Amino acid sequence: MCAVDLTVILGPMKSGKSLELVSLLSPLQYTNVRHRVYQSARHVRDIGVVSRSGAALATVKTTSLAAALDEEVDVVGIDEVHMFTVEDMAVVRVLLQRGTRVVAAGIDLDHRGEMFAPVRALLELGPATVTYRRAVCDICRDFTAVYTQVLEHGEPMVRVLPPSTALPDDGTYTYEARCRDCAVLPATVTVPTQAFA
Ligand SMILES: [Zn+2]
Repeated sequence: MCAVDLTVILGPMKSGKSLELVSLLSPLQYTNVRHRVYQSARHVRDIGVVSRSGAALATVKTTSLAAALDEEVDVVGIDEVHMFTVEDMAVVRVLLQRGTRVVAAGIDLDHRGEMFAPVRALLELGPATVTYRRAVCDICRDFTAVYTQVLEHGEPMVRVLPPSTALPDDGTYTYEARCRDCAVLPATVTVPTQAFA
């Protein structure tokens, strides 16, 4: 737990990312390791990181990770990292250069099935560990869900919003974990059918 580096935990919703973040960071409260866990102030669902097992982690809500630069901490945790910005990932780079360990968890793919820009920026920092978690598909119950299906009035949303749009968790939309077969994504990419003809 002392190595100075970047650990990234990615996956769709309901894939146990928070459980992994909690299991990595909650022991620190019993140590002298100075640590802080950040959540985006845009995240409105709960107070702190609460995994589905009920374990919890005290968190600080912030609109920008730049707040972490003013803190004397050894470890920075970031929950729902996709809710932050590419500029925030530049802050992560500075933290790593300073010798701060960073552990970040979040959803990797947006409503289009494409990688969130801040998540891509995070991976470009060369993490020591990247864990890709899967969830149980809410449709076929296979343990192969990689997408977070956005539902609008209970139906798959196929409107194409700008890439990396972080959708609110305030009840406007509902979300399901879905596998590649069951996900209904906006048609942003045309699959060539004659590619090998
Ligand atoms: Zn499925």
